[in-house]
Amino acid sequence: MEIRDVTVIGAGTMGSGIAQVCAQAGWKTTLFDAYPEGLEKGMNSIDSFWEKGILRGKTTPEQKAEWASNIHPNMDLVAAVKDADMVIEAVPEVLHIKAKIFQVLGEETKEDCILGTNTSSLSIADIAAASGRPDKVIGMHFFNPVPIMNLLELVKHDLCSEETIALAKSAGNSMGKTTILVKDVPGFATSRLGVILGNEAIRMLADGVASASDIDTAMKLGYKHPMGPLELSDLVGLDVRKDILNNLAESFSEDSYRPHPLLDELVKNGELGKKTNKGIYNWDNGTKSERDDLPFL
Ligand code: NAD
Repeated sequence: MEIRDVTVIGAGTMGSGIAQVCAQAGWKTTLFDAYPEGLEKGMNSIDSFWEKGILRGKTTPEQKAEWASNIHPNMDLVAAVKDADMVIEAVPEVLHIKAKIFQVLGEETKEDCILGTNTSSLSIADIAAASGRPDKVIGMHFFNPVPIMNLLELVKHDLCSEETIALAKSAGNSMGKTTILVKDVPGFATSRLGVILGNEAIRMLADGVASASDIDTAMKLGYKHPMGPLELSDLVGLDVRKDILNNLAESFSEDSYRPHPLLDELVKNGELGKKTNKGIYNWDNGTKSERDDLPFL
């Protein structure tokens, strides 16, 4: 099967970015959201990304017009998915919301339609079971911002077919992504490694090993990470990181995944990172600076 017609469910941060790269791949792209304001925000964010590209000389007005003509916003779920060759779901990280959508997808999409989920931590097998067509379901974990980040983590559960994996891989390549294939285990490959590095960096900060910026610089210059683990934790959100750590600590019965008490304390104080202007760093007006009131200093 050749993919030509794609539907993205959920027009938020991730869904709008996924729809954008699908449209740029030349596919007919339908963008669905349950809320009119969600759909409008997603469409505006795609438009503004392309407009900025034109201003910077990276996109031509002709390219933008062609890509824009590929995107079709739609608020009728059944109509949005019925002709799709591939559907990618990017609704909130809540199992019962995703399961409800996959039930509809199982009933309303073409039999050979590939059903991808962009979940970052939920079990793909659980989501797949709701569709009644688990062989067609695969984890398609994109990264934020989708048009810029090159990785697509494909997550296969036990009932996922080889054909589904091959089609998802080829679709990812057409979107300009490099794919990796990972088993359906808690945290996949990315979150599992990413959160443990962040948690250990927080432990080092609390133990007074070095300042936050020196720990981050250690990984940037010493290991060529583009961003340090503490800054990244602040950008992702310390609450998000804590939830993933708790899930992984439960799944693996592993103490190394238990959120460090300093992380607990920051989350309890509502200091969640950049989005609340304070986390491991201060983020006044989006500008990062070292805090002088953390335990080790
Ligand atoms: P978001 O809150 O920005 O967007 C969610 C969108 O879904 C909203 O537009 C909302 O109106 C819509 N929505 C809510 N309920 C819906 C429903 N029943 N049907 C259709 N649309 C519905 O969320 P996001 O950050 O884009 O995250 C979406 C998914 O992507 C989650 O599973 C998340 O874990 C995953 N993810 C997020 C990131 C990230 O950095 N934000 C990275 C990788 C994966």
